[in-house]
Amino acid sequence: MAEVILTNVYKAYPGNPEPTVKDVNLEIKDKEFMVLVGPSGCGKSTTLRMIAGLEEITDGTISIGGNIVNDIPPKNRDIAMVFQNYALYPHMTVYENMAFGLRLRHFKKDEIDRRVREAAAILGLDDPKENYLQRRPKHLSGGQRQRVAVGRAIVRQPKAFLFDEPLSNLDAKMRVQMRAEISRLHRRLQSTMIYVTHDQVEAMTMGDRICVMRDGIIQQVADPITLYNYPNNKFVAGFIGTPPMNFFEGRLHERNGRFFFNEGSFELELKEEAWQEKLKKARVTDVCFGLRPENIGSEMAEQNPNLPRIKARVEVIEPMGAETHVYLSTGNSNFVAKLDPFRKLHYGEDMELALYMPKAHLFRNDTEEAIF
Ligand code: ADP
Repeated sequence: MAEVILTNVYKAYPGNPEPTVKDVNLEIKDKEFMVLVGPSGCGKSTTLRMIAGLEEITDGTISIGGNIVNDIPPKNRDIAMVFQNYALYPHMTVYENMAFGLRLRHFKKDEIDRRVREAAAILGLDDPKENYLQRRPKHLSGGQRQRVAVGRAIVRQPKAFLFDEPLSNLDAKMRVQMRAEISRLHRRLQSTMIYVTHDQVEAMTMGDRICVMRDGIIQQVADPITLYNYPNNKFVAGFIGTPPMNFFEGRLHERNGRFFFNEGSFELELKEEAWQEKLKKARVTDVCFGLRPENIGSEMAEQNPNLPRIKARVEVIEPMGAETHVYLSTGNSNFVAKLDPFRKLHYGEDMELALYMPKAHLFRNDTEEAIF
């Protein structure tokens, strides 16, 4: 088992004007489940492939278990990778697919058999009635094929597992199930896992920590709850959470030592004690006020008479069952609120909604960094 450390890692593909990965510094602890997440093309897979040794590093160092691996070929890095497109051998049985990598490495037959059967048991592919081990991949469901691909990695007993969007070929229900299975697997195997996805829900539900990337640059590395509650910048704030955080463009004013945010159609005093020093230091007027949908018009907020209220018109109502997503407009800004499903709502009506200010965020417009 091993920690994986990336130090000042760059990747520049010949012909591309900009490096794909820029100055990545990341420490993945032994036994940690680290998720690399970000929009398509942000350099997640490239980063993972550099760890695996499938891409050369343009600059910087990568170490696995204390050894710098820059010049070590993939097969000697003692890591196993699971891909999106399973890459199973169609002419081999499940057993042979799992055993193949060990055969190449000249493992003894009984050791191969022991490891394959153990992996099959872990993955629920050992039901004697179903005889999965003797089936060909085409006689398996997508989820089962993905399990075989994971099994092939498990039998290697690698220092670290690398997953590259392993669930994106599965249907929504199977994705949710496999997500939980991989999390269980991580707890059971207690090994370092690095998992690439563009899906922020996968990142939030699976990661011990999450590394958010954009344009080849790390934006923030934190555990899911920290990332959700304390995003470093507007990009992270908008990327994590569904529906995403609401952003209201406006201006920051100071009057008699008190700070106000003005959106045009409403003004809010920014009263929280913890914000005051940060607001004094900010020295900007163009800002963006952020509040998540669950912090607008929630029952808890509505019952608090001290909270500010904004007027907005109902445009779209989406009942989700446990809650209702309501899309509204202030005239200047569109936003969404998660409201109680029993609340009476009508299209086109004007309503007043309480803002739960302790959960608010403010971002600079110039750098998009969080002021608070
Ligand atoms: P992600 O996994 O975040 O979707 P990738 O790491 O696969 O992103 O790719 C990031 C960018 O790197 C792509 O937009 C592409 O322009 C570039 N890229 C990836 N692979 C190559 C390659 N083999 N040659 C040139 N450019 C590449």
